[in-house]
Amino acid sequence: MIREKVTLRSILNRIDGRGYKAYKDIAGQYTFEQFDLYIDHVQGDPFASPSRIRVRLPNKIAGLPQDLYNSEIRKTALEDYLTRQIYRQIGLICKNNRGTGKSGRISIQRCGQEILKRTSVVITSDFIEARLTMGLPAAGRTILARQAEEMLFNELPKIIERSLYYNNLDKSRLKNHVLVCEDQHFLRQQLEKYNIVAFIANGSILPRESGVSDKPLTLKDNVKKFISPPSLEIEISLPNGGPIKGMGIPQGVTLIVGGGYHGKSTLLRAIERGVYNHIPGDGREYVVTVPSGVKVRAEDGRRIEQVDISPFISNLPNNVDTTKFSTDNASGSTSQAANIIEALEVESKLLLLDEDTSATNFMIRDARMQELVRDEKEPITPFIDRVRQIYNKLGVSTILVLGGSGDYFDVADRVIMMDNYMPRDVTLQAKEISRQIPVLRQTKDQGCDFHITPRIPMPHSLSLEGRKTKVRTRGVDTIQYGLTSLELDYVEQLIDVNQTQAVALIIQYALKKFIDGHRTLNSIIDNVLRDIDTYGLDVISPFYGQHPGEYALPRKQEIAAAINRLRVLQVRY
Ligand code: ADP
Ligand code: MG
Repeated sequence: MIREKVTLRSILNRIDGRGYKAYKDIAGQYTFEQFDLYIDHVQGDPFASPSRIRVRLPNKIAGLPQDLYNSEIRKTALEDYLTRQIYRQIGLICKNNRGTGKSGRISIQRCGQEILKRTSVVITSDFIEARLTMGLPAAGRTILARQAEEMLFNELPKIIERSLYYNNLDKSRLKNHVLVCEDQHFLRQQLEKYNIVAFIANGSILPRESGVSDKPLTLKDNVKKFISPPSLEIEISLPNGGPIKGMGIPQGVTLIVGGGYHGKSTLLRAIERGVYNHIPGDGREYVVTVPSGVKVRAEDGRRIEQVDISPFISNLPNNVDTTKFSTDNASGSTSQAANIIEALEVESKLLLLDEDTSATNFMIRDARMQELVRDEKEPITPFIDRVRQIYNKLGVSTILVLGGSGDYFDVADRVIMMDNYMPRDVTLQAKEISRQIPVLRQTKDQGCDFHITPRIPMPHSLSLEGRKTKVRTRGVDTIQYGLTSLELDYVEQLIDVNQTQAVALIIQYALKKFIDGHRTLNSIIDNVLRDIDTYGLDVISPFYGQHPGEYALPRKQEIAAAINRLRVLQVRY
């Protein structure tokens, strides 16, 4: 039933001063002059998760030009811009402290440096809809209807007017946001054509403000802007921004070397984030990476479920089978091996490794150690003996940050040295050194066909029944899945709390629709992503058709990473 906004006012009048539960009466749909208001969920008390509301505005009224949303990528960029705009306006307009608990708080998803597909603002051919939450105000548990009225009838329309009406927006900034995002998307699609796996534009600003801030380091702090070495420089023409030059990292095996503190990890981190688009001004707008690139690191303590890590590890003590390796408490090297195999299982075309976060014995074993600990006693075939096969047999490239071992010169196609934050192509010198100082270490058996066997998740292992049905997200890195806690701290390309929330729902959605004991993990996630493509990100929510909740789209690789880390997961082959 659609009601007039005066009805909402009169309900508020009636419930003023009553117990909090009476707020439930305002649920429903109301017509305001310029938009429709949907109060989809009313919170049970002032401390509970805030109430969920939507505001739906006809395109005619918002007046956003169609060419700002006439493709998927433009739409995502525009929705992102509008979400940020609403967020900013809430900060300016909204009075926060209106009573107990979350009283008075209006909010929308908070966006970081990346432009992600979100459920916060959705544009269709007819309307534009913003999904907000609102802490309905109370003193103790007594309804403060006057305050609620001010929020709904004054603040909300003002927020909407200032953030969704095209005429009230900074038109050139908005256009730039959309076009820059589109250029990044285009650039990423071009990588394959140029046979490169990453592109870092000249002039990019890679370092971040601090270890806890993702904003760019400001220029006054002696930032060195990125400049490609001539031998790796390529030029690509962008649809909006014209020609752009930068360093192309070719497919194959690339080492990033250099002294400590010379900017190696900073470069790699920018490449890791290059799977996402960035807002103008970030400094990494034109740092783009193939979409499936995965950061791989050591992660001791994680759970592993029947992963074939035999290309890296075999002959474990007690005859443990490493072709179906399971553990509740992985070591540094077994976890890194599993992380690589799992990335390959979901079709990653690029592995990113940093010595800072790798297990040393997984990366290298030198001649002396080989002499002391004979091969038959050492279960590990280090990455150095596999990285070429991963490229030659599977076509999967690697970018590896390494300051400590020149043995890798032998297996690298490219060696880039970071020198005072500036990249230099030192491939020729490195190859020359390879010739002059031969490596004494023995290459471990080369015969490994790297056949990745797809695993099939078993539905009963993930089912949520009885006491353990709750799934809850805590921050970016933790999902409480029934009785087990799923730790995602080391899934470094999961970057946004709303992505984590989406992952939690996607697991349940997949369980309902696709995890059937027959489909492989890879195809299950493909199916989910196809649904999202067809029906929008809302589709994963149990509240489809209403305010779905606050979600941002994760990549296939992060969804897989989450499922792989579930301590209850069981698979078959
Ligand atoms: P490495 O991995 O080579 O030891 P890092 O990448 O960790 O070095 O960088 C060391 C420090 O230098 C970090 O504090 C980082 O923010 C800073 N830094 C990195 N690149 C630049 C740059 N281009 N300009 C200024 N500072 C930078
Ligand atoms: Mg480092």
